[in-house]
Amino acid sequence: MSQAQILYRLQQIDLDIDARRSRLSYIERELNDRSAIEAAESKVAEAEGKLSPWQRRSSDLDLQIKGLSDKIRNAEKRLYSGIVKNPKELQDMQEEIASLKRRRAALEDDLLEAMIAVEEHQKAYQEARDNLDAITARRESEWDELRREKARLESELRELEKQREKVIADLDEDALERYTALRDVKSGQPISPLSDGICSVCGVEQSTTVIQQVRRGERLITCTNCGRILVIL
Ligand SMILES: [Zn+2]
Repeated sequence: MSQAQILYRLQQIDLDIDARRSRLSYIERELNDRSAIEAAESKVAEAEGKLSPWQRRSSDLDLQIKGLSDKIRNAEKRLYSGIVKNPKELQDMQEEIASLKRRRAALEDDLLEAMIAVEEHQKAYQEARDNLDAITARRESEWDELRREKARLESELRELEKQREKVIADLDEDALERYTALRDVKSGQPISPLSDGICSVCGVEQSTTVIQQVRRGERLITCTNCGRILVIL
């Protein structure tokens, strides 16, 4: 194999390495990306924020109603106990009980309204929770798959690095240097196969002299247009 042919083999390995590294960095970003879960979590918090004031109001009202019911029960007990005999006092007690009952009825209306709101917000909260659970499960299954792919890519990378070492061992130092310098400026593709006398990367036809020199493979010959090292495979 000529040096150009070995360089072409090196380029193929490097392109394979680049592709895996770029996929790995995408995977790394995905594995750290919790944005979908965080968005669903904030929806849950938002729904909870709407629900809890109604829950508090509902239990406050419940307590107040229970308190009033106790008062009414005690007052009625006293009223019917026969202990109080004074008609004026009895009438006051009846009025007091009637007033307590009106207050209780008003609170019961408020409680009903609060309970309807609790039910409504509870439904929205549950939906937000279900959504969070679904998104978390979906994301975790995606992450599992990506972790498996990551392990596979890392093992392929180790294999490619070994192949690269072997290929480099067959290269002259200056050939490797030229390849390395050109690789940065030629988008990772410093070596171009000649196909029917045409540089396959830039598409420009080469002179007969250039073609003959490339065919001899004694030294590295570059494309007269794009400057890539030409190779005949
Ligand atoms: Zn070219």
